[in-house]
Amino acid sequence: MRCVVLGGPGAGRGTQSELLCRHLGLLWIATGDILRLAIAAPTSDDPSQAELGQLAQDYVERGELVPDEAMIQFIQLRLQQSDAAHGWILDGYPRTAFQAEELDFLLDDLGQQLNTAIYLEVPDDVQFSRSVARGRMDDQPDAVQRRIELFHTCTRPLLEYYELRDRLIRVNGDQAIDQVQQEILKKLGASQLE
Ligand code: ADP
Repeated sequence: MRCVVLGGPGAGRGTQSELLCRHLGLLWIATGDILRLAIAAPTSDDPSQAELGQLAQDYVERGELVPDEAMIQFIQLRLQQSDAAHGWILDGYPRTAFQAEELDFLLDDLGQQLNTAIYLEVPDDVQFSRSVARGRMDDQPDAVQRRIELFHTCTRPLLEYYELRDRLIRVNGDQAIDQVQQEILKKLGASQLE
């Protein structure tokens, strides 16, 4: 199965993606985690990681989006690696219409298809307080506020993009972790039967 998970900061994408990957034996690709790691380890053995970290640092710290070109290129390389051949969950990608379109082109080239886009719906004030409480290097209040804004302007239009393609499932992310996971599994099951 190939899935993308959409939601603002603190919506629970990471928590739910990890659970789902464990449950279904899929590869979990979290772009935010990958970027934070690349930033924290600038002396990584892999020069492309070090380069990505250098480019991304300023954007990530300010809560801005890393430029599409860099993210699209990164995902192109990542999804062509052998461990990605049997299904994955993309957590934090795509975040813009351009990224979503390019992902579809890439999957066409690879002869693969996206099964589902899972949207974790959580009110802005809950997203804000959860993110600030988490205290990561990019969770300063101003940066979190900016990420919420960018979710609305850049990422929300993707809901329509996937809805039009009959791929979208909406899940109430403002519930206990287990309940959110149950709702995802139930709705995924139903969509696979259609
Ligand atoms: P959150 O879930 O809190 O919004 P993530 O961990 O997914 O944060 O992402 C952290 C940061 O990494 C984002 O604020 C952004 O700067 C960068 N980032 C992650 N994924 C993408 C992407 N697909 N496009 C552009 N920037 C990204």
